[in-house]
Amino acid sequence: MTENRITTLFNIKYPLIQAGMIWCSGWELASAVSNAGGLGIIGSGSMYPDVLRLHIEKCKKATDQPFAVNLPMLYPSIEEHIATIIELKVPIVFTSAGNPKTWTSKLKEAGITVVHVVSSLKFALKSQDAGVDAVVVEGFEAGGHNGIDETTTLTLVPAVAEKIDIPVIAAGGIGSGKAMLATMILGADGVQVGSRFITSVESSAHINFKNRVVETGDGGTRLTLKELTPVRLIQNEFYQKVQAAYAEGADKEKLADILGRGRAKKGMFEGDMIEGELEVGQVASTIHEIKPAAEIVAEMMQEFNAAVEEIKRDKFNF
Ligand code: NDP
Ligand code: NDP
Repeated sequence: MTENRITTLFNIKYPLIQAGMIWCSGWELASAVSNAGGLGIIGSGSMYPDVLRLHIEKCKKATDQPFAVNLPMLYPSIEEHIATIIELKVPIVFTSAGNPKTWTSKLKEAGITVVHVVSSLKFALKSQDAGVDAVVVEGFEAGGHNGIDETTTLTLVPAVAEKIDIPVIAAGGIGSGKAMLATMILGADGVQVGSRFITSVESSAHINFKNRVVETGDGGTRLTLKELTPVRLIQNEFYQKVQAAYAEGADKEKLADILGRGRAKKGMFEGDMIEGELEVGQVASTIHEIKPAAEIVAEMMQEFNAAVEEIKRDKFNF
């Protein structure tokens, strides 16, 4: 691969970005992906301000390549996170779950490249108007917090690509080089991959969660809790408890009460597979192994290049 709008924007080798995932993507994963030629992201939504500072400092020591921080706008201490990001000169920020107008100009004034994560064409257009450098368009297949419209990646990527001028990064359901190529044919300039990196050696997810992702088969995840914030989860005992509450006609307050606080940490970081919230995408069903992040990057790029060759040969000449 030579260069495209995403490799040029971030100054990286491959248009392959690792998603910023709460409790899973600390400095170890982010630096491993950046060292392998992709873009690594520290997921700051689960980090207290002092923890984020530590992870940025460790990431800088572990790689001389560009890396980013993901900043969910719902995060309670967002102003402290932004001050740390600016002070420590993080080159790239991915914002999510909020209005792109709120922080983009402040980050850009500090010389930071800003990308915003959206799940609809409407918000992609709003992000472009807010002055972001690129958008991540995330389809319904994705794990964790998800868009309300349930638009799939296959539909969302071309719908956005034909209407905006800034680069588009596809996300949701991408765990292989073939899926990467498919979304790029649909108009994306690069991809963001989450679930596949949960099961990397360097991810800070608990080993129980990594093993559970590997075991998850077809249809093993569901989108739920739409009345609060829609989230895609593995169908474990906690998920069944939520379903039972729905069956009994639980209202929003009751659902919030059942969810409580800190369930994502309990499941993904502390390894409680029964009571924890286990956030992963549909693509978990195609993940069969825990392996180093650099191998995941290399494997995806080999698959991508092989698929390009396959198309050039005879597979699609009808
Ligand atoms: P290390 O792996 O070197 O561990 C640093 C400290 O974190 C140790 O005291 C360790 O406890 C503790 N720790 C590590 N894993 C867990 C876990 N699963 N549950 C509870 N405590 C844990 O640190 P890193 O350099 O990787 O991380 C630095 C800090 O960032 C730590 O506080 C870590 O918990 C936190 N972190 C936060 C993430 C997040 O998403 N919020 C992601 C990754 C790390 P012990 O001495 O018992 O091994
Ligand atoms: P909860 O309200 O259930 O719990 C907050 C969790 O975040 C706790 O585990 C807490 O750790 C930790 N935390 C880190 N920093 C702070 C802080 N400054 N104040 C309070 N708690 C903090 O939230 P969730 O676990 O559901 O979500 C946490 C964050 O992650 C939110 O910002 C949310 O927007 C984001 N998020 C993003 C997702 C995505 O896909 N981008 C998916 C899910 C969540 P402790 O228990 O040690 O106090």
